[in-house]
Amino acid sequence: MNILVVNCGSSSLKFQLIDSNTEEVLAKGICERIGIDGRIVYQKGEGEKEVTDSPMPTHKQAIQLVLNALMNEKSGVIKSLDEVGAVGHRVVHGGEKFASSIILNNEVIKGIEECNDLAPLHNPANLIGIHACKELMPGTPMVAVFDTAFHQTMPEKSYMYGLPYKYYDEYKIRRYGFHGTSHSYVSKKAAELLNQPYESMKMIVCHLGNGASICAVENGKSVDTSMGLTPLEGLVMGTRSGDIDPAIIEFIAQKEGLDITSIMNILNKESGVYGISGVSSDFRDLESAAANGDERAARALEIFRYRVLKYIGSYIAALNGVDAICFTAGLGENDPVLRSTVCNNLAYLGIEIDKEANSVRGKDIVISTPDSKVKVLVIPTNEELAIARETLALVK
Ligand code: ADP
Repeated sequence: MNILVVNCGSSSLKFQLIDSNTEEVLAKGICERIGIDGRIVYQKGEGEKEVTDSPMPTHKQAIQLVLNALMNEKSGVIKSLDEVGAVGHRVVHGGEKFASSIILNNEVIKGIEECNDLAPLHNPANLIGIHACKELMPGTPMVAVFDTAFHQTMPEKSYMYGLPYKYYDEYKIRRYGFHGTSHSYVSKKAAELLNQPYESMKMIVCHLGNGASICAVENGKSVDTSMGLTPLEGLVMGTRSGDIDPAIIEFIAQKEGLDITSIMNILNKESGVYGISGVSSDFRDLESAAANGDERAARALEIFRYRVLKYIGSYIAALNGVDAICFTAGLGENDPVLRSTVCNNLAYLGIEIDKEANSVRGKDIVISTPDSKVKVLVIPTNEELAIARETLALVK
């Protein structure tokens, strides 16, 4: 069965058509600048990327263009829409309602709408994509796969904040965690690669991209993770501050005469390694700036790595040990210096990194030495494939 995976944002829409039998990506791409002017980037298999400027005032038109591209006589991969067996939608926030993926119907859509408050930038955009697909492919089953679902197994002691309980009762203010599809995919894959039983392992997954989070996985379940009510908590990220003393908000507000919206914008978009370095949120830029003697860029990298290390340390304590530590996403997959710096600080656990394996790119690999007491792995994440698998499992 071919499964269309859709990740719909407010002005962009990423898609992949995956053959669930072979798990091959038949075609993929992105619609950008929806509602502005419109551009579709389309790639058949491993072929050349085709970029077409095309007006797309609404998401419905964007999806229509995707479907046209998939059925195009020359570069298309299907002849008719009947060849799309199901659609899997990435949905950012499932609140406490959704602890797993679910077939979309009107009631589920209403449930997702009820979570809009918790992710006002993301959920409404995800829903627009869902409605657009529903209109264009009314007979095709659709599934919602939530970023938060994997973390719904966290115990209360991990997810509760030290706030008056009524805020949890009334508004469901608690830690939810994100990147769940990735943490789940990577931890399962690591267990497979190590040939160890997923259901009885202690793992720590470091998803380090522009957005970054760490997850403690015990016996196949998320028991703690670094992001919270929103993706702002936890690690120092590309442009997000991660954990800070909440009193800083009032302090800056008073010093600079700013309102809460401006401060949240600073914490989300002007902080992190970008804010510290003043150079870039892209770690490649930071590394080259640091290599050229830029001290603030070097400091930003050091601060980022130190926070990663501290979270790993705290999760080793929470898990009372660890069998495997996994690195994934843009930086986790591509930055051997980050991995070796972090792991060298864990040498007391008997962790030893194999230099040669640590320099390999683009494949699932164990980068610790055979004698290392804790296994360390790099597992390239594949959230689209994970969404396609979840979708298939529900519609089969
Ligand atoms: P997101 O999905 O959150 O946008 P990604 O997982 O795509 O993020 O990761 C993007 C980050 O990965 C960027 O900051 C980029 O600098 C970093 N990255 C990608 N390749 C490398 C590399 N070779 N060395 C260091 N960092 C890299």
